[in-house]
Amino acid sequence: MFKKSIIYSILFLKCPQCRQGNFLEANPYQISKMNKVKERCPKCELKYSIEPSFYTGAMYVSYGVGIAFAVATYVILLFLGVADNPLTIFIAIVAVLALTFPYIGAVSKAIWAHLFFKYNPMIAKQVKNDTRA
Ligand SMILES: [Zn+2]
Repeated sequence: MFKKSIIYSILFLKCPQCRQGNFLEANPYQISKMNKVKERCPKCELKYSIEPSFYTGAMYVSYGVGIAFAVATYVILLFLGVADNPLTIFIAIVAVLALTFPYIGAVSKAIWAHLFFKYNPMIAKQVKNDTRA
């Protein structure tokens, strides 16, 4: 059931329409293909880009996702009881953002795509047994 949810589709970088095909060319941490969105969904053939530079808008999303990661880091530091010094907090947040920025960029593009393409259960059912990634 979770595999059909929009949360799964965004976090695991799947196609917004069928939620099964991969959204990116490669893992976000593969630097040479960093956050390169595929031309089409390998399963349902959805064209991922509506217009040229479609994913430029994802940078607005990435700002929000970055803030969410920073706040989450701060909350974890509070729970661990080590958020006593502003410098510690700052260094921890910078370290977390530096390590997660490829994934933040990828998730932002996935969220952006999910805003414009709707899930289609009929298509998802048709491509379910398709073995292409
Ligand atoms: Zn698809």
